[in-house]
Amino acid sequence: MNQLGIHALVWVGGWSAEECERAIAATAEAGYDFIEVPLLDPARVDAGYTAGVLERHRLGVTASLGLGADTDISSEDPAVVTRGEALLNDALAAARDMGSRYLCGVIHSAMTKYMQPATERGIDNAVAALSRLAERARASDMTLGLEVVNRYESNVLNTAGQAMSLLERIGAANVTVHLDTYHMNIEEGSFTAAVRHCGNRLGYVHIGESHRGYLGSGSIDFDEFFRALVASGYGGPIAFESFSSAVVDPVLSNRLGVWRNLWSDGVDLATHARAFIETGLKAARRAQ
Ligand code: MN
Repeated sequence: MNQLGIHALVWVGGWSAEECERAIAATAEAGYDFIEVPLLDPARVDAGYTAGVLERHRLGVTASLGLGADTDISSEDPAVVTRGEALLNDALAAARDMGSRYLCGVIHSAMTKYMQPATERGIDNAVAALSRLAERARASDMTLGLEVVNRYESNVLNTAGQAMSLLERIGAANVTVHLDTYHMNIEEGSFTAAVRHCGNRLGYVHIGESHRGYLGSGSIDFDEFFRALVASGYGGPIAFESFSSAVVDPVLSNRLGVWRNLWSDGVDLATHARAFIETGLKAARRAQ
């Protein structure tokens, strides 16, 4: 059975002690197995404190981030790559200390709209940095997930096929593909083909609607996606992602272009999403 989780930004825009308590309590209350904590600035997250709150609520945790333009490991500038690698190492340590076995997201390039294509030298830099990060992750029995995002959020990985090629170049068993239905809906020709292409290298999944609001209120064919997941035998984590101007992280929300209010009641949104995903997976299993 897949563990079901939810992104912390459904609840809180930061990670003070109070926000950490509130987000973890709400996640457990809504019936999820884990919370995904954003680590764009690992220094803002008290990993030890977070681990304690998680334990008290018997909740699991995963971690994600997107690199910035000044920490882009796919840059040709060695200084930028070095900064990016340092950030990834910090994030990995924070994730590990919270109790996470995963570090995923846009950790292969900056999470931003590029105004030019990725370069060969830049990709070489990303491959080298991710290989080193994978080795560090392996020492802590952790898995990396390279999130495939749409063309406005990366110029390195926009399709599952590109991610599989990059995985081959990195050549580490603990580096996996992280797929997100919101991005797939924009870039992939078919949910089924993309999931099949990843096979057993799919390591992390984000569930998001076409507008990143209430599941089922957009244009994504979740029946097809859930059937593809079940057919592939995917048993890893599945995290619900949704963003609204009702909850704002000053860094993350702006990078993601969260300009609209798609919901204001996080409890209702989260409860509905969990039931939606569970029902979808159950139906997909029956269909098989
Ligand atoms: Mn995502």
